Amino acid sequence: MRIILLGPPGAGKGTQAERLVKKYNIPHISTGDILRSAIKDGTELGLQAKEYMDQGQLVPDELVVDIVKERLTQPDTQHGFLLDGFPRTVAQAEALDANLQALNAPLTAVLNVDVAEEELIERLTGRRVCRACGSTYHIRFNPPTVRSVCDKCGGELYQRSDDTVETVKQRLAVYRQQTAPLIDYYREQGILFTVDGAQEIDAVFQEITAILNQQQ
Ligand code: ADP
Ligand code: AMP
Repeated sequence: MRIILLGPPGAGKGTQAERLVKKYNIPHISTGDILRSAIKDGTELGLQAKEYMDQGQLVPDELVVDIVKERLTQPDTQHGFLLDGFPRTVAQAEALDANLQALNAPLTAVLNVDVAEEELIERLTGRRVCRACGSTYHIRFNPPTVRSVCDKCGGELYQRSDDTVETVKQRLAVYRQQTAPLIDYYREQGILFTVDGAQEIDAVFQEITAILNQQQ
């Protein structure tokens, strides 16, 4: 099972990824998570990425393409993987195609999670993430049992610094310009499946797994 979760920021990619990787027992590869962890560790990659991320811009293609290329050489990806937040430009998608061709590992499906823009702003500004395990919550739509405490590990929940109204609007504009063209890119390859991401979290999951079960 080699899957891409495509969709605007806030569509629910990370939320669905948490569930999908458990069900299919495949690694979750989120370029956003990898970059945030590099920033936290103060690595060269983190220093380079931070200024772009703070401004809601995409990090340069070369940086993320190399990260994913390296990640896909790890043995845990041999039986599949779920890419979340990558690719985000046509150049990244082309680099990934070349890489997967060399690995003789074609994509199973690209799931395009579709949500209206007004809803995305509310979702992103209310998002909270666990500092310890990375689980995602929403103050209204998916609240933790105890305020600011992760249900799964007891870790502290925080708000991402790029989840402010201003940066969210910038990220959505970047999505429209640079990432939305990937919908046609993968439709032309015949592997695009669009899912209604405005439904409840469980209903979105059901729709995705129904699609994936037909592809196996
Ligand atoms: P992405 O990874 O696509 O940026 P997330 O999975 O982090 O998006 O979800 C963004 C926010 O929306 C989170 O706070 C999450 O809890 C919430 N959310 C995710 N899916 C849904 C849904 N189907 N309905 C309502 N809120 C959702
Ligand atoms: P995400 O966690 O997917 O919302 O990503 C957070 C930020 O990380 C984005 O706004 C970008 O600045 C950067 N980023 C993550 N993935 C990519 C990618 N594939 N290409 C370029 N920038 C990325």
